[in-house]
Amino acid sequence: MTFSTVIVAAGEGLRAGPGEPKAWRALAGKPVLRWSVETLLAAGSAETVVVVARDRLSQVGEALAGLSGWRAVAGGASRAASVQAGLAALGADRPVLIHDAARPFVTKAHVDRLLAALTDAEGAIPALPVPDTLKRGDRVVETTVARDGLWRAQTPQAFRREALAAAYAAWPGDAEPTDDAGVVERAGGRVALVPGDPMLMKLTWPEDFAMAEQLAGGRRIVRMGQGVDAHRFGPGDAVWLCGVRIPHDHGLVGHSDADCALHALTDAVLGAIADGDIGAHFPPSDPQWKGASSDRFLAHAVERVAARGGQVLSADVTLICERPKIGPHREAMRARVAEIMGLPVDRVSVKATTTEGMGFTGRGEGLMAQAVATVETPI
Ligand code: MG
Repeated sequence: MTFSTVIVAAGEGLRAGPGEPKAWRALAGKPVLRWSVETLLAAGSAETVVVVARDRLSQVGEALAGLSGWRAVAGGASRAASVQAGLAALGADRPVLIHDAARPFVTKAHVDRLLAALTDAEGAIPALPVPDTLKRGDRVVETTVARDGLWRAQTPQAFRREALAAAYAAWPGDAEPTDDAGVVERAGGRVALVPGDPMLMKLTWPEDFAMAEQLAGGRRIVRMGQGVDAHRFGPGDAVWLCGVRIPHDHGLVGHSDADCALHALTDAVLGAIADGDIGAHFPPSDPQWKGASSDRFLAHAVERVAARGGQVLSADVTLICERPKIGPHREAMRARVAEIMGLPVDRVSVKATTTEGMGFTGRGEGLMAQAVATVETPI
């Protein structure tokens, strides 16, 4: 079923304490708002409107950099006004999800359950039964409230769009709904309860962010990339390998310093985040990379991982050549690679092998490097 999405991020979230409004704070390396937008776009949202405070409109592009298929509109003075601004910005008439950006851990499974429930209801909400005993009172208990049949309503909430728009049109101007289902209920619409999820927690209080960081930490994946490079021997008195200058009776030919170990490792890191290859980031046709020191290529790849909220975990490089002998330089190479990547030395391996005289490395025509890198990133 195709659907549209309105993500509301216009509130100031004063209960979350001082600092940026919660939708704009970083959670595991990316803005809270981005978590929901990424998930709902990937879940197939055909039209996605993000509602933010007018003075935040210029910030949305940065928070959602690299994502496409969304639009931002300015919200109103209340949550209800913001929802209506989002609804008004939608084009085609299809079921709509209304979601609070402050619930970052929405998944496609939540979306599918809600949309399925719309077949025999005007609306559907994820809801959890109340496990705690409920009390009413002020400093002392006045009464115990029966919790039978009580539910905690979460978002996203799904609606047939016309039903929601008509219900909002009929909503009295002097009242403020606390959720969208309440608007449809008042208009006589049927709202289905579907199983909620503790992971749909709302970031409300300062301590919620610490808990969310823990939960987000569990939603990271380890990714692996590999790289291969080779350079031809030519005139010279030294080669650069793993950022270390090694005296030799030849040099290596290349546009940059021809450090094929760092080139292979750069490709391994880029490969782990599916971010193209070294040639795409540093085209050989660009004269500014002529003779360049290759440590900047590797540092750039590590920065690309960090920009995604990730980190490099380990690197393993294998050099394939008959000469020069790598052993005497191995520890210096490990130390230099670790320094460039910001890793402890025990996460960096440099190995060497020969091809027993076979092939281009065996004949001493050139030198080859292979590398593997592991990184972890938010899912
Ligand atoms: Mg190369």
